[in-house]
Amino acid sequence: MALLRQAPAARIMNQGELFLIATPIGNLGDITIRALETLRRVEMVAAEDTRTAKKLFQRYRINAPLVSLHDNSSPAQRQKLLEKLAAGAAVGLISEAGTPGISDPGYRLITEAVERGIRITPLPGPCAAVAALCASALPLDAFFFAGFLPPRPGPARRRLEALREIEATLIFYESPRRLNVTLALLLEVFGDRQACVARELSKIYEEFLRFPLSELLRLGAEREWRGEITLLVSGRDTKGINRDPEVLAREEERLESVLSAEGFGRGLSRRDLVDELAARFPRLKRRRIYELVNRRDF
Ligand code: SAM
Repeated sequence: MALLRQAPAARIMNQGELFLIATPIGNLGDITIRALETLRRVEMVAAEDTRTAKKLFQRYRINAPLVSLHDNSSPAQRQKLLEKLAAGAAVGLISEAGTPGISDPGYRLITEAVERGIRITPLPGPCAAVAALCASALPLDAFFFAGFLPPRPGPARRRLEALREIEATLIFYESPRRLNVTLALLLEVFGDRQACVARELSKIYEEFLRFPLSELLRLGAEREWRGEITLLVSGRDTKGINRDPEVLAREEERLESVLSAEGFGRGLSRRDLVDELAARFPRLKRRRIYELVNRRDF
């Protein structure tokens, strides 16, 4: 019913409208009928990467004129698009892959279009974060999209510390080159939580590695990460926590070595010390952490 009431042709002819069109993240078959219809009807398409867009257009015989719009586009380029929209044009926005604006350009154009009262219509479709999440086997009832971490270690650590208490599955985009560094940092800041590396979604070498962070790090030492990667980590104290006895024993070993580190816990009360360790090792029960701490002379 809703589809019939909103026939795209009628809407496009009557008013300026910005269509946010999700495109494939690998497999070119992952595009909706509505996305194709809209790409064929709009007056122009603003694309983050016109070369990728041309491949898609060739495959589906789309002839819409392409204009480039990326993070470094000048305000004047956005201005031109906004003027077109204000004059009644239907304009499509696509990113290099997936949903526009999700760790991709689009935000500024969207907010400026909203400020001018221009209608925005999202066309749902591929998004690596959602595809990875639903197959990760991590809790799906609540999730937090964290995008890319800052590239420098200091800001990345601070961002992770700010995310540590979130009780929802966390989703990160990451490059294969940085994955091991990020896994190590996550292990340090979050403790050994259950996680999933979702690689090459919708492509030939699609792969899901569902392991605790420590295991993923071990795997990363043995293989070279390649392709596009979405990394998911269970939230604090969620059911994603793996309490496998072997894994717990390794976790206790790691806790012991933290306790042995010179100067660790100096100046902290026993309670603060246990709080600190519980945050770092969320798999271990507090009672067990107390036992391990009490064996030492603090
Ligand atoms: N807008 C896109 C979306 O909706 O998913 C995301 C764009 S962002 C610039 C690109 C990042 O998304 C990649 O570095 C990777 O982390 C993730 N990604 C994109 N395609 C992917 C795929 N096929 N498999 C796994 N992760 C992917």
